[in-house]
Amino acid sequence: MKAVLDHVGIAVKDVAAALAFYRDALGLEIEGAEDVASQRVRAHFIPTGESSLELLEGTAADSPISKYIDKRGPGLHHITLRVENIAQAIAQLTERGVKMIDDQPRPGAERSLVAFIHPSATHGVLVELKQAPLPATSDRVQRFTLGDLELISVCDGFIGLDGGAMFGVVPKPLWAKVTPADDRNRITLAMRPLIVRGVRTMLIDAGLGDKDGAKFHDIYRVDRRRNLDHALAEAGLSPEDIDIVLASHLHFDHAGGFTVRDRSGRVRPKFPRAQYVVRRGEWEDAAHPIDRNRASYLPDNYLPLADAGVLQLVDEDQTIMPGVRVRRTGGHTLHHQMILIESGGKTAAFVADLMPTTAHLPDAWVMGFDLYPLDTLAAKQQFVEEAMEKETLVFFEHDPAIAAGYIRDKNGKRAIEPTAGRL
Ligand SMILES: [Zn+2]
Ligand SMILES: [Zn+2]
Repeated sequence: MKAVLDHVGIAVKDVAAALAFYRDALGLEIEGAEDVASQRVRAHFIPTGESSLELLEGTAADSPISKYIDKRGPGLHHITLRVENIAQAIAQLTERGVKMIDDQPRPGAERSLVAFIHPSATHGVLVELKQAPLPATSDRVQRFTLGDLELISVCDGFIGLDGGAMFGVVPKPLWAKVTPADDRNRITLAMRPLIVRGVRTMLIDAGLGDKDGAKFHDIYRVDRRRNLDHALAEAGLSPEDIDIVLASHLHFDHAGGFTVRDRSGRVRPKFPRAQYVVRRGEWEDAAHPIDRNRASYLPDNYLPLADAGVLQLVDEDQTIMPGVRVRRTGGHTLHHQMILIESGGKTAAFVADLMPTTAHLPDAWVMGFDLYPLDTLAAKQQFVEEAMEKETLVFFEHDPAIAAGYIRDKNGKRAIEPTAGRL
């Protein structure tokens, strides 16, 4: 295992007094404070070269930090070692009989995952393991050129969905090695709509949007500190620039951003000039949900489109604008569709929930959410063959770190070769 010193945690009773030493006397820079709500702790990071100091104050009397200070006074609290794969690290340590405080990773500051080792195993020091958060570019706009078209991958932030539901019949010991879960079994997923600029400007899916309440945010660990609005601005676009909004399907993590609630409380289309293109079968299913899919369809995301007269329903596979066509995959929902993009002899595909992350490449890795998993499997097998043959640039809508890549055959084994766009 490779472990790098990430930071040293210091429990402080009086932050102002501590800052007088670390900031004023030592002359170090203090980064903004971050609250870790689950631990009732506020952390102040002080960069010191490759690693940093972390001043910790309890925000409640029952916070572990407050209790620590009550018992032992302020002082050195823990050291943190950064590892590449925290689930693997925990497994290795447990195998050797090392006693863990956390035998499952849990969310730490700045989207990291952490786990503490028991001080009885570390010769008296509290050691925290940390898996580095996502690469800094993971929520940045990435630009790709495909013939005459420009493809711009944008990010609407991150959510935490149940890892078991994301990987269906695949047992946790297998998927947790690829994507570690937090203490509530959730894995981090991105929402990455795609902008296609050609004769017109099209937005494919629109992420989660911001109409959801506190309970929803808690269940799904919503993190939209950087969202579609930031991404559009970074891409030099405004909502008025979007001519067409195209839906892969109408689940809330894809269609949530189609509408906004205005100040009067009315929900209206977010993109004022756009026509919204939805497959008719998907529209019918969303308008008449059944118990099995009701939680995924939130009417405020799409019914206002019909009221506003901006809805365009399409019945079958067809071209939506030059170079962009839709193809029904079924599987995830009966009328789920992927988007195939072609220009100058090159191809790209926005596969939406057919293959939500790069981890979903193997045949059996199909989501438990899918209504018709065997159809997903068949559509995925067919697509993977086609994508390898045509060297298709594949966009992964939910992958936390990788926006796009190629599917390659490496010595008889299929693998994704990630491709970063221009920033
Ligand atoms: Zn979906
Ligand atoms: Zn989805």
